This record gives sequence, structure tokens and C-alpha cells, in this order.
Amino acid sequence: MHINSLTVKELPDNRTTAPHVLPIYATSSFAFDDIDQGIDIFRNIESGHVYSRYANPTVDTTAAKIAGLETHGLGLQAHAVMTSSGMSAISTLLLGVLKAGDKVLTQGNLYGGTTELLTAVFGQFGVETVMTDLRDLNKVEDALRDEKIRLLYCETPANPTLACVDIRALADTAHRHGALCAIDNTFSSPLIQQPFAHGVDFIIHSTTKYLNGHGNSTAGVIVGADKDLMRKYVWRAMKLAGTNCSPFEAWLTYNGMKTLALRMKSHCANAQALAEFLEKHPAVGRVNYPGLTSHPDHELAKRQMRGGFGGMLSFELKGGLEAGIRCMNRIKFCTLAPTLGDVDTLILHPASSSHLNVPKEVREQNGITDGMIRVSVGIEDISDIASDLEQAME
Ligand SMILES: *Cc1c(COP(=O)(O)O)cnc(C)c1O
Repeated sequence: MHINSLTVKELPDNRTTAPHVLPIYATSSFAFDDIDQGIDIFRNIESGHVYSRYANPTVDTTAAKIAGLETHGLGLQAHAVMTSSGMSAISTLLLGVLKAGDKVLTQGNLYGGTTELLTAVFGQFGVETVMTDLRDLNKVEDALRDEKIRLLYCETPANPTLACVDIRALADTAHRHGALCAIDNTFSSPLIQQPFAHGVDFIIHSTTKYLNGHGNSTAGVIVGADKDLMRKYVWRAMKLAGTNCSPFEAWLTYNGMKTLALRMKSHCANAQALAEFLEKHPAVGRVNYPGLTSHPDHELAKRQMRGGFGGMLSFELKGGLEAGIRCMNRIKFCTLAPTLGDVDTLILHPASSSHLNVPKEVREQNGITDGMIRVSVGIEDISDIASDLEQAME
């Protein structure tokens, strides 16, 4: 072989023993032994990787871990695909499930990006979004009489008021009317809430948040309750829309997940303690945390969450917008950042950031007041988190 060719030539993989941890398969395609193997893989007779947009070993192993967490103890065989972000998990699912003329039934207090995706983007393709209070099952039943509703899409607990909806009741009602049911389980992670136990068809996550947990990757996942659902609605859409996850992002997620149980335990304990601390504070008007008996959905949350109530909470300052901004500007230990689910405590003022473009009336209809502050409670020592908030509210 010419020396110039030697520089180009892919050498045999000289791996001898198996790697202890999952490697990053940074390869766009996979080589076949011979043409017959290639044909069999393309025809799905033999399993094998072809092209990383379709599937990649690092990404598949990470997806399988998430499917395993979402079905642990349930006796189900769920399947998952990872995508490039939480938003791409949602858009891929919608692309796979919906066609022009279909409608989606959902709640008004979804993650902001999801609302905009449904109305502004899918609206362009003749998909209509119907919003109702999913806590009112009579309204849900009424809305589902419209047989154009193909999908019931929900989020619980919802951002930033932590309002909860009854997953079991919604999934059953959707199914009775021939619709599918999907849930965004980002806020809880499968350690705290397993929606397949309550009958949903699809779960999506922004793995960017708790599953990764360290704020160093952006990715998403769609988990289907069985292989047929994934085959029918998701795999083709993912492959053709090209919303696949990069092996590097999957690898970061995979590593992050190893401490998920430890982290969630700590997030839950810290959030519960901070919620109780804030509830007693004279500057605080109201605290939204499903683990508080004062939360309107506490009993429901107890039924469908376990091991704690997650790491997200919000609270209202009596002094309104001015007090909210003042408190945010005085934060020292915690970080002002719009993401959530990281190991460190992140604070956001919805009225001046995530919900700045939402009209005040709409905001208030959904319980998002001017003085509301959202906290993604981290796993630091609780004394540092609580004393930072205390000095900021002084
Ligand atoms: C962040 C988030 C998303 C979007 O995920 P990205 O990874 O940012 O695309 C969707 N749903 C919820 C509940 C989220 O918090």
C-alpha cells in the first residue's frame, strides 16, 4: 500500500477486551462484511447498524437505559429513541402521529416551547390545538367527543405552578375515545413518576434536564409503551426528519444517569425542606410544591409520584414584580439561569424571562404572577440554598 493510502486507510479495530464503560461511537456509518449482510440489514432480516442517523450504538444503549427506567417493575417492553433535544422529541412524536385535519387536546400551561410549536408550527400544517383545563375531566370528556382529536398531550407537574393532572384518568379517557395519550415527564424523571404505570402510550423527556443532571448536554427521548407504537409512529419520523441524537450528547446523558437515583433523592429532600422554609417566611405569599399539604394537587401527586415530589418549586413574593426583581438581583449563592434539573440550584423569574412575551392576563390565568420565582432546587447543602434566599428577600 502506498504511504498516502496508508494515511487514509481505516485500520482494524484493535480492541481486545471489552470496554468497562460505554464508548462514544463517533462514526456516521457502519461497514458490512459482504453485500448479503448489507441487504439483510436493509431488509431488517438481520439486525445491524447502517447509518448513525438511523441508529448508533452509543445512542441506542442510552435510549435502552431510559426505556428500562420508565418500565422498571411494570413488566412492559418499552422502546425508546433519543433525539437532538427535548423539543425535537416532541416535534418528532407530533410529526409521526398527526396529519392535517387532526387536533391535539392539551393544557394551557405547557412548557412554553411546546405551546408555540403546536400553535405556530403545527398550526401551519392544518393541525389544530385545543386547550382546556385537563384537571376538569368533564371538560376533557366533552372535548374528546370531537373525533378529530388524535392525541391528548399533557405535562405534570407543570411549569412553573407545579399544577398536576391525573395521568390515569386522562389516558383512560383518551383511549375510550380512540385517541393516543402522551406525557412530558421531564419534571419528575422516571425515578419519581412512571407514567406507563398509569396507561400512557408515549413519554417524552428533555434529557437536558434531570436525566443528564449536569447541564452539559442537550438531548431528548421518546419512549413508546411497545414496539408496535414506535414502529407505527416514531421510528420513520425520526429517521426522515433527521432529529437523531449525537453519540456524544447521548454519552454525556448516559454518564449523568448513573447518579440519577442519588440526585433525585437529594433534589426531593432539599426541595421539600426549602418549600417548608419558604412557606413560613413572612415575605412569601404562597409556595407551590406538590409535596406541601397546602398544594391543591397534593393528594393526586401522592398517588402518582413516589419517593418524593421532585426538585422544582415556585413561590410568590408579597411585594409583586418589584420584590421579585429585587430578590433575583440579590441572589449570591444560587445561579440565575433558565434551565432546570442541574445539580446546582437555578433560579428564574418567569414574568421577566420565560414568560416575558406572554400577555399579563394570560400569565395570571395560568397562575403565573409578577412576583413569582421558580427554583430548580439543587443537591448542595440545604443551608446554603435557604440562607441565600433568606438574605435575598431581606
Ligand atoms: C426544557 C424542557 C423542554 C424542552 O427541552 P430542550 O431539551 O430544551 O429542547 C420540554 N419540556 C419541558 C418540561 C422542559 O423543561
